[in-house]
Amino acid sequence: PLTREAMEPFWLPMTPNRQFKSKPRIFVGAEGMHYVTDDNRRILDGMAGLWCVNAGHAQKRIVEAIQAQAAKLDFVSSFQMSHPAAFELARRITEIAPAGLDHVFFTNSGSESVDTALKIARGYHRARGEASRIRFISRAKAYHGMGWGGLSVSGIVRHRRDFGPLLPEVDHLPHTHDPEHAAFSRGQPQWGAHLADELAKLLLVHDPSTIAAVIVEPVTGSGGVLPPPVGYLERLRQICDQHGILLIFDEVITGFGRLGAAFGANAFGVTPDLITCAKGMTNAAVPMGGVIVSGKVYDALMQGPDNAIELFHGYTYSAHPLACAAGLAALDVYQDLGLFERARRLAPLWEERAHALRDLPHVVDIRNIGLLAAIDLKARDGEPGARGVECATRCYDAGILIRSSGDTLLISPPLIIAEEQIDEIFAAIRRALITIS
Ligand code: PMP
Repeated sequence: PLTREAMEPFWLPMTPNRQFKSKPRIFVGAEGMHYVTDDNRRILDGMAGLWCVNAGHAQKRIVEAIQAQAAKLDFVSSFQMSHPAAFELARRITEIAPAGLDHVFFTNSGSESVDTALKIARGYHRARGEASRIRFISRAKAYHGMGWGGLSVSGIVRHRRDFGPLLPEVDHLPHTHDPEHAAFSRGQPQWGAHLADELAKLLLVHDPSTIAAVIVEPVTGSGGVLPPPVGYLERLRQICDQHGILLIFDEVITGFGRLGAAFGANAFGVTPDLITCAKGMTNAAVPMGGVIVSGKVYDALMQGPDNAIELFHGYTYSAHPLACAAGLAALDVYQDLGLFERARRLAPLWEERAHALRDLPHVVDIRNIGLLAAIDLKARDGEPGARGVECATRCYDAGILIRSSGDTLLISPPLIIAEEQIDEIFAAIRRALITIS
């Protein structure tokens, strides 16, 4: 058999491994809160994989549902065909989504969900005879995926800069966190709702009748866990309504319990016109995403005037039977274990433990909401990102998986996490911070 060194060059890892100049970590198993490495170490998963394994790894019911579905009906296309689990999953998702979001389009990832939502937004306006509405507005620091649409509306410069030109009709609002006014804010900052008025200002530059949609993550995730200031999302909703602009919440991370409710929209009490989701939809056991669509949008798409437009869109694997089976089982597990409520119940302890690191060396800001946290470290002179990587690496060596993005540490555990495991994660970060230079 080939050695690991001999096999690795066949794999093109792209950015993360090039950036860290490190060997990939190889996992050979996973169960509950833990990964198992190829040298047989158990690693406590403080990232829920990649913000997605909300019910922990290898949930028995999900595994069995996938196996049973594979044996019964492995594949069916979504073009003029479907299968019972697709309808059932759509129904179950609309049941937990905010009232009025009544229809689901299935995709295979968060990126496809975002691209689909942007296409639906343009299709909606076109179906209503407003073809001039083509522009999208998003935010700085937003992450909306790797497809051309999602990348175009993303606000993380590092992700975009090597791949242009992207969609030209995009504007980015400022992000919502200013450490000068709201450092170490717990949960939603009190400061910053007025930043939503930047949208109103932008509408003085662009004729509102050229804007298709505003897309935001309710909580900016990969960009550094930036909870929305109190009142901010409400104000965005108001401005969009005033000008006939659709509001899209990208809930790829915040969907399925992370904030202690089914969606961020439920948690914050603000209902968008479309929600994009993925990740926790199947507990990440099979790739799947979706766009949840309001009745208003659905009606326009389905009953547009004289069928002048075709709105052709869909993927080979839309509503894949294995994904639908995994999605139904994941919803059962979330419900039976009460995981959304559990996240809500654990959130205050999570907040306490995160903010207890406030006075440690290098720490300049800490943010949290639901079971999400981020810790900003001061960059070492001339070595941006080094402290972040070193801290995450020390944690990993101590058996705890967290993530670093530049000098920001990101933590997002499965919602089944035990209280002692919350302590373990923050204790490992504490030790790492004390020992790195
Ligand atoms: N939107 C958001 C908010 C995300 O966090 C992500 C992934 N981290 C995506 C979209 C893209 O999802 P995927 O990687 O499944 O394509």
